[in-house]
Amino acid sequence: MTKANNPELRSWITVPDDSDFPIQNIPFGIMKTNDGERHPATRIGNMVIDLSVLCDFGFFDDLGIPDLSVFYTPVLNDFIALGKNYWSAVRERISELFSIDNDALQGIEDAVKLVTRPVEEVEMMMPVYVGDYTDFYSSIEHATNVGKMFRDPDNALLPNWKHIPVAYHGRSSSIVISGVQIHRPKGQTLPAGAKEPVFGPTRLLDFELEVAFITGKKTTLGETISVDEAEDAIFGLVLFNDLSARDIQKWEYVPLGPFLSKNFGSVISPWIITLEALEPFRVKGPKQDPPVLPYLKYNGKKNFDINLEVYIKPENGEETRITRSNYKYLYWNMAQQLAHHTVNGCNINPGDMCASGTISGPTPDSYGSMLELTWRGEKPLKLKDGTERKFIQDNDTVIFRGYAENENVKIGFGESVVKILPAIK
Ligand code: CA
Repeated sequence: MTKANNPELRSWITVPDDSDFPIQNIPFGIMKTNDGERHPATRIGNMVIDLSVLCDFGFFDDLGIPDLSVFYTPVLNDFIALGKNYWSAVRERISELFSIDNDALQGIEDAVKLVTRPVEEVEMMMPVYVGDYTDFYSSIEHATNVGKMFRDPDNALLPNWKHIPVAYHGRSSSIVISGVQIHRPKGQTLPAGAKEPVFGPTRLLDFELEVAFITGKKTTLGETISVDEAEDAIFGLVLFNDLSARDIQKWEYVPLGPFLSKNFGSVISPWIITLEALEPFRVKGPKQDPPVLPYLKYNGKKNFDINLEVYIKPENGEETRITRSNYKYLYWNMAQQLAHHTVNGCNINPGDMCASGTISGPTPDSYGSMLELTWRGEKPLKLKDGTERKFIQDNDTVIFRGYAENENVKIGFGESVVKILPAIK
């Protein structure tokens, strides 16, 4: 077992019961410091830890890191580019420093003050510069539901679906950090029964419950990453809300796929949870039948048991949980996704983001979008305040939460939060 994953470890930083961030997590993100600079950071309990200050004190000096400037950059791309062995070494060093029996930092009051800040005083920023973004479509339950609604209930999956981890290239610069407010987008739609499209605010604004992985490797054109190598080239995961305008999508998506219906804002959680921290939560994926082509065959447990929840909070109201799904339902795992992505020689860079596609579970209360939860609006959801939702309304806040948990430890993702504002006049 990785030392930093030992469930027996305790930190000298107080960790509230049920926290997403025990000392076994050690996620990576970017914090904004008091003087407005952005620094790499991690989090234990409710304290944010400035890695640049740990580096100032020399705590990373003996890890063999070729260039310590990676702890002072405004995004994590350079740190991620160091590769898996260094991610692991830094995680382990942080784990040692904040373990209850380690005196190197604890007790030196001035140093602790410089290194740690309460989470409520810290603004979190985009953790990486996202050079490229790919959105997969890897949940068989979601693809089946959408196929039933929009095409043919008897042939919901297209013939390629069980052979190819289907995906499209999305827009990376509209991926934004939790806490953002986004105006309802406007666009073209074709009203039911109409022959001509109309223009206006989307009436069917939706979320897509997704998890994205962040690549940790640079490859050149022509190079491929095999299924077996793929996980070493993945740094970690974030929650990913791929906001979608269903009416705009329906009118525009043939023949080249979604465009304006999905590029107006996708909202991620600020902390990247490393694959290493998620090791204890590996599970087997669904059986793939028919068998996949040899380059997509994999061994072992490549799915992860991560609980995923979505809440809607109306303006001035309390939040209601509207679905509970799990990352483990994905038909195509991330190793297959990355192997497929690069099998033609397509290059990747550290900080690229690959989203899973909407993750729906097998039951109607585990679907990963309003489209499916309300079955195109036919079965509205009831919120705690008595109001109903077919889709997202203006001034609603959509909150994603995610966590992996066993009897020993909980590794949480925190939240992805977005408030929807009325369309701009
Ligand atoms: Ca999506």
